[in-house]
Amino acid sequence: MNVRLHPDIEQAWQVLHTGKPLSFELASALGRLPDSEVLDLASLANKVKNRYAANGGKVHACSIMNAKSGVCGENCRFCAQSRHNNANVEVYDLVGEERVLDQARTLFGLGIDHFGIVTSGYGYRKVTPEFGRILGMIDLLHRELPGLKVCASLGMLGDEPAAELARHGIAHYNINIQVDPRRYDALIADTHTVDERIETIRRLRANGISVCCGGIIGTGETMQERISMIYELRALDVTVIPLNVLVPIDGTPLEGADPVSVAEVVKTFAICRLAHPGKIIKFAAGRETVMKDFQGLLMLSGADGFLTGGYLTTRGRDIADDQRLAAQVALFS
Ligand code: SF4
Repeated sequence: MNVRLHPDIEQAWQVLHTGKPLSFELASALGRLPDSEVLDLASLANKVKNRYAANGGKVHACSIMNAKSGVCGENCRFCAQSRHNNANVEVYDLVGEERVLDQARTLFGLGIDHFGIVTSGYGYRKVTPEFGRILGMIDLLHRELPGLKVCASLGMLGDEPAAELARHGIAHYNINIQVDPRRYDALIADTHTVDERIETIRRLRANGISVCCGGIIGTGETMQERISMIYELRALDVTVIPLNVLVPIDGTPLEGADPVSVAEVVKTFAICRLAHPGKIIKFAAGRETVMKDFQGLLMLSGADGFLTGGYLTTRGRDIADDQRLAAQVALFS
């Protein structure tokens, strides 16, 4: 019986030996691997995660709160909150700070130490009264829950709001490029440009803010385009990489999108780990609803973190179930 590794996977073992990221050329070759080789690639990515990931492969869990929902003027094709789409979604203005504190306190009590405040909409070019209220929420959480890392995802930012977030000590700012930047307007949205997102990332970095930035799998992109997105993240020097698997929502242009196979998703996570040996790679939306029985496998294919306790417009799993999953994943370290 032939037990030799596929030659491209054998070559990729250099990442485990040296800690140096995979080259774009080899990543592209791995993107063409047949499904029958994918578990060998996943196994290598899991070893690289255990040896080089920032927290030694320990699962990094965070949770988010949708603090302002719906009626967004942007036209992101996957999003239930866009007013260009016809999805059934809760609509409300920025919630009060007590509600944010209650939710953060509950999650912190359950052992979740990263909490993200998320708002729908384009973002904040200036420090508006609403943005000022968000800064107040960040201060309140720091005061009332010492030890909690407060994150935010508020869309695109101008210079002044970015500087204010740095001053108020947020842990990470989330803004995703979603896909290969060259395909952003075709696959994601054309009411704003990916360059506006990238500009925001540069502003955040210039203010010393750690960036959480990733993408979404299943918008109609090719594997090669996914790999281009993964390497764009290297150029942007992000700290945390959240990867989502599309959850097609009724009433959005992607409601009938073809599901991506488990093998393709595993391959994407594994290549992402080999391209970013030391970063935190998080499995976000789609973990429970699309990957179902295979979500544990994804956690053994290079991911070392997940979003727990639900998403912006779709439900997640119980935090206790996720904590059990994290403990079981640790057995493979
Ligand atoms: S992803 Fe954000 S910017 Fe895009 S439509 Fe949804 S809420 Fe608006």
